[in-house]
Amino acid sequence: MKKQGIGTRCVHAGYKPGKGEPRQIPVIQSTTFKYETSEQMGRLFDLEDTGYFYTRLQNPTNDYVAAKIADLEGGVGAMLTSSGQAANLFACLNICEAGDHIVSAGNIYGGTFNLLGVSLEKMGIHVSFINADDPEDKIAAAFRPETRLFFTETLSNPGVEVLDIEKCARIAHEHGVPLIVDNTFPTPVNCRPFEWGADIVTHSTTKYMDGHGVAVGGALVDSGNFDWEAHADRFPGLTTPDASYHGLVYTKAFGRAAYITKATTHLMRDLGSIQSPQNAFYLNLGLQSLHVRMARHCQSAQKVAEFLSQHPDVAWVKYPGLPGDADYAKAQKYLPNGTCGVMCAGLKGGRAFDEKFMDSLRLITIETHVADCHSCILHPASHTHRQLSDEQLRAAGIAPDLMRLSIGLEDADDIIDDIAQALEAAHKA
Ligand SMILES: *Cc1c(COP(=O)(O)O)cnc(C)c1O
Repeated sequence: MKKQGIGTRCVHAGYKPGKGEPRQIPVIQSTTFKYETSEQMGRLFDLEDTGYFYTRLQNPTNDYVAAKIADLEGGVGAMLTSSGQAANLFACLNICEAGDHIVSAGNIYGGTFNLLGVSLEKMGIHVSFINADDPEDKIAAAFRPETRLFFTETLSNPGVEVLDIEKCARIAHEHGVPLIVDNTFPTPVNCRPFEWGADIVTHSTTKYMDGHGVAVGGALVDSGNFDWEAHADRFPGLTTPDASYHGLVYTKAFGRAAYITKATTHLMRDLGSIQSPQNAFYLNLGLQSLHVRMARHCQSAQKVAEFLSQHPDVAWVKYPGLPGDADYAKAQKYLPNGTCGVMCAGLKGGRAFDEKFMDSLRLITIETHVADCHSCILHPASHTHRQLSDEQLRAAGIAPDLMRLSIGLEDADDIIDDIAQALEAAHKA
């Protein structure tokens, strides 16, 4: 049968109600599940039978929604987490322990940069940050015998730089480790990293997947393609007996789903961080219109980027959909239907002008959030990093004039009018 289009799967994948069952995914708001005999319950704990027993590990609502995300990404399985941070933490901890090493792109979300560079370091997992745009041999030089994974973002937050996924997958595989891609900004509607060789995908579902600014959440998706047994000595957690399940070996028992099964049965069991079924329900509402919304975010962002790039007050615009952009060719290859609604821009007027501009905005709001239906703006120099001087900002890799703009679902003309009037007002103020 012909595979259904991504829009049809956004609406339907993961949940097929039977006769008389709820049309919408039901919220199963229950911590526990009932069994008839102690033998039935015992088999669950030996992972010999499938079934729900405790919502910290699995819940039907979460599983319907996770199955939809796995389908959209083209993976063998997925797990929902309480946040994007938890998804990235679990993606790493599932195959890393003290003494191991991670190679990561440097241009990643600040929270993830801190998670890897500070928190995992404190746990004895070492991280080398590289520039994913460097030539292959230069990136390859960062890999060590104890490297366990290569971490990247499809579209970097906030810089919206496009990852050369095929190149990074090649480097990872030459070193016998999986490529993990945080695919938050494009969503599977605009890019499916597994089709380009990535092995594991993560999401902050808080962003476009939810899309309405309602619920913090994350997802971890397994392609099922990485051959853990071919590199068995590097991944003992997957390829040697797990004493907490009577010596079960994940790769032997679960085959292509070994990684994602271990993430649930081991990490979720021990560390928690499950998404609440209520939040999974909200997430599914977002997913059901994701394909419609992403197209609109991209269409409006393209118009705003073009407007900004021609405005005399604007020094520079970074949006991969602009033909002159350094990432335009990569965007055409990996994200031919559009990237996302986020862009960066710098104004010519200096820090005081930037503040007046933002204070004059009437529709676009000042927020630390991105990637939902409301247009919003963040200026690190005035907000998240306001204690730093221009020199200190540059040393931290943040241009003092950088503004991150997230284009929502309002009419593009209204967003452009708002920017135009605020620039004018900033001159007068
Ligand atoms: C926001 C974000 C995260 C963190 O997700 P939370 O849901 O806020 O924990 C991780 N990666 C990227 C690319 C993000 O934009």
